[in-house]
Order: sequence, then structure tokens, then C-alpha cells
Amino acid sequence: SAETIDRIVIIGGGISGLSSAFYLQREAERQGRQVRLTIVEEAPSFGGKINTLQRDGFVIEKGPDSFLARKQAIIDLANELGLSDELTATNPGAKKTYIMHNKKLHAMPPGLVLGIPTEIKPFIGSSLLSLSGKLRALMDLVLPAKPAVGDESLGGFIERRVGTQIMRRIAEPLLAGIYAGDLKKLSLKATFPQFAESERKHGSLIRGMMANRKATAAAASAKAKGNTFLTFKGGLSTMVRALDQALSKADRRLGVKAERLEKTTEGYTVVLADGERLEADRVLVTVPAFAAAKLLEPLTDVEELKAIRYVSVANVVMAFEKKTFGLDFDGSGFVVPRSEGLHITACTWTSSKWLHSSPEDKVLLRCYVGHSEDQESPKLPDDQLIAAVRKDIRETMGITAEPIFTEITRLESSMPQYPVGHIDRMHALRARVKKDLPGLWITGAAFDGVGLPDCIRQGKEAAAELLR
Ligand code: FAD
Repeated sequence: SAETIDRIVIIGGGISGLSSAFYLQREAERQGRQVRLTIVEEAPSFGGKINTLQRDGFVIEKGPDSFLARKQAIIDLANELGLSDELTATNPGAKKTYIMHNKKLHAMPPGLVLGIPTEIKPFIGSSLLSLSGKLRALMDLVLPAKPAVGDESLGGFIERRVGTQIMRRIAEPLLAGIYAGDLKKLSLKATFPQFAESERKHGSLIRGMMANRKATAAAASAKAKGNTFLTFKGGLSTMVRALDQALSKADRRLGVKAERLEKTTEGYTVVLADGERLEADRVLVTVPAFAAAKLLEPLTDVEELKAIRYVSVANVVMAFEKKTFGLDFDGSGFVVPRSEGLHITACTWTSSKWLHSSPEDKVLLRCYVGHSEDQESPKLPDDQLIAAVRKDIRETMGITAEPIFTEITRLESSMPQYPVGHIDRMHALRARVKKDLPGLWITGAAFDGVGLPDCIRQGKEAAAELLR
């Protein structure tokens, strides 16, 4: 009857859970359906990986720091939350990025998109690759396309098209910021389907990325024009706070873990860590794959979720007085290939990249530690971690100044590694869930894109799925 109230429980209050809840609430209202929405979050606050710290006039991101401007889902959500005036772009004077090679910082040649050259001249002029490395890369223009056969590894594909030098010296360190992974173990289709598309449609990765670049530039929204990354002036937590407010009618349970799921005649019981039992007609699981596997294992087969490995990382943010820092930045930072043998994988010159992040007389740096083959560094005790990072910034940039303060963030098991065959496996899992567990749906960064805009897009899709 029209009086029926759907009881919906969302497990996980990261961006996936919150955006799902937001679109669920909105869509239910639009359809005139009554829903009782409960969001269960283990941590004492919402946001998941998103975690902005305001300290002494700095805006410090301890998790993600920005998002890809060309991805519409997050721009739409920002507009819907009334936050479009809060968006801010990277400093136009800091567009340069550097890559370390043989212990020196080399400017990334203009036109490099995700590590793939889309302008030939600056690429040829770059000091990052040897002549043979460059020639090997350009072979992509003439090498025949491989007939499409399911999935392959991202690293294998890049190597096959443009060679090992680009893979190790450019692509891996650049893409490490997104996956911290071994490119040879990541799924091409699940990470950069546009690469596979390029080969299929244009017979060449370089030609495809050139065409892609033109098309995205033409289609860019007003906000995105000319900007690769955007964030919010008050940090990414701005969006989390706005979602929390927009969901004020929902029952928001913070600081309590969903311990177990039980199937009932009408739906499900979500058993919380404090013993409370929430009865639900529908359940949406938005937690990381390993946590979702624990919840679903008693009810269905979860081998696909268990196949997703998570990498741990840490980052060290350091604030300095500008007058004692001893270096002027002309870019946004640098990335470090594994072969350089440092602890850090990248260093963002945050105060230069994001002008809103720091007072004018201060400098803010953010150094990243840990990747799939280095799971030791993120576990170093604080003093050793700081010492390792300071040694690296001394050796790479000559920085010896004493920081005003240091903030360490450890993100344990935080970066999902989509394995080769991931998309097919996730389809199989969802088909099984649909059959075995009606009214239950599962989404989040483990599925179809780790970026914040991808999580929001998936959250919106999950909301539609749940109301079906
Ligand atoms: P999460 O944020 O992990 O949220 C899941 C939530 O579920 C958590 O709050 C957790 O506490 C809760 N939970 C878990 N188990 C339970 C349980 N049993 N019961 C109740 N609650 C539970 N993306 C970008 O777009 N740009 C970036 O710059 C960027 N940088 C990144 C940097 C780092 C270091 C990391 C780790 C990720 C970065 N990402 C970035 C990716 C992006 O931040 C994540 O993919 C995204 O935030 C994941 O959102 P989610 O809601 O799917 O998962």
C-alpha cells in the first residue's frame, strides 16, 4: 500500500555511503515513496578516507586531496549541495610537475596524459628517457593493434605499446598516486579502459590519447575548463559536512560497527557491535572489499571480494616558515620511480599547488610513503618515518629547515588493487548477490573506480538499484 515504509540500512559512511544515501533520499522523495534511512559508520565521524584537518591557518588533507575536474558526478553533487562557489582549482602558476630520474628532478614534458605523450616535440626533447626509450615509445604509432582479448595487465599493456622505460620511469610513479600498485598486476579494463579503447579505435595508444585529449577539452564543463584538478576551499570535508546536513532526517549511527548480517523472512537484520539489531527491507553495503566479505560470507560466496588486495600507505605533512625554507617552487611537486630507492613515492608542494592551503608566509609539503612492494615503510614508528622522509627531501631538494609541525597519517589497507579480470568478477559477484540476496546491493571504491567522482557515480547508481 501507499503506507508501506521501506527500511533501508546503509553500511559505511564514506563518500560512497553518503552519496548513495543522498540520492536515495532524493529519489524516494521524487517518487513519493516513504523510506526510513539508517547509515551505520564504524568511525566516530563520516567521510571514510576523506579527512581534512584545519590547523594554524592550514588546510591539510590527510586522505584524498582533490578530484579530476572532468568527471561530472562530483561537480553535479557539489551543485546539488549548493557548494559550487566553494570549488577551487590548482594554482595556475604551479602546473609543472617533476619526475625524479637518476637522483635529479626532471620537468615532466608538456602533453603527457597519464604518462602517455600526446605532444611529440616536448616528449622528444625530454631528458627523462634515453633516445632508444623515446624511439621505442614512438613505435606505438606503427605497431599493429593486438586483437581484443578480454583483460590484460595495465603494465603489460603500456610496455607492449610504448615500452618499458615509459612504464617504469613515468607511468608507474605517476599512477602510483592512484593505486600505489604494481602496474603489472592491475587490470587494464578496470583502471584505464580508455587505453584499451585507444588501441582498439586508433590502433595506437598515443594517437588515441591525442584524440581523447581534444575531445575532453571540448566537452569540459565551465568549472573544469583548463583545470585538471579541483577541490573545495575548506578542504574535501566540506562535501562530507554538506552531505551530513542534507541527510539530517536519516538515522545516522556513528562510532558503531555493523558486525553481522542475517537473512530474515522480510529482508535482513543488521547486527551492530553494541548488540542492537536493525531490521531492514533493503541493505546497501559500501565498505572496503575485505570488510564487505566478512559481512556477506555467511550468506553467499565472496571469493571475488577476497581477490582484491589492499595496499597500505602513509603520508607525512610538514609545515615550514617560508623565510627559512630556502627554496621557491615553480610547480606542484614531484613523483619518484621505485628504482630511485627512496622511501617517498611522491612529494606534493601543497602550498604552491593549492594557494588556499597555507598562510602566505608558510610552506606546506606532503610526502607519500608506501606502495605494493614496500609495505614496511608505512609501518615505521613515527620518529623513523619522519627521519626517512626528511632524509629524502634533503637529498632530492636540499631541504634542511626544521618543520614548524609534522602530521603523520597512516592509511592501512586503503588502496584497492583491481586484479586482471576484475570487471568480469564483479559482474559475477553482483549477479550472485542479486539471486541469493534480494534487496541487498553492494558498491564502493572496490568496484568501478577509486576516484571520488567514481564513488559518487556508483553511489547514485546504487540508489537507483536499491529503489528498483
Ligand atoms: P571509504 O572511504 O573507505 O568508506 C568506507 C567506510 O565504511 C569507512 O568510513 C569505514 O569506517 C566504514 N566501515 C568499514 N567497515 C564497517 C563496518 N563493518 N560497519 C560500519 N562501518 C564500516 N581519490 C580522488 O578522487 N582524489 C584523490 O586525491 C585521492 N587520493 C587518495 C589518497 C589516499 C591516501 C587514498 C587512500 C585514497 C585516495 N583517493 C583519492 C581515493 C578515494 O579517497 C577513495 O576511493 C574513496 O574515498 C573511497 O570511498 P568509499 O566510501 O568507497 O570508502
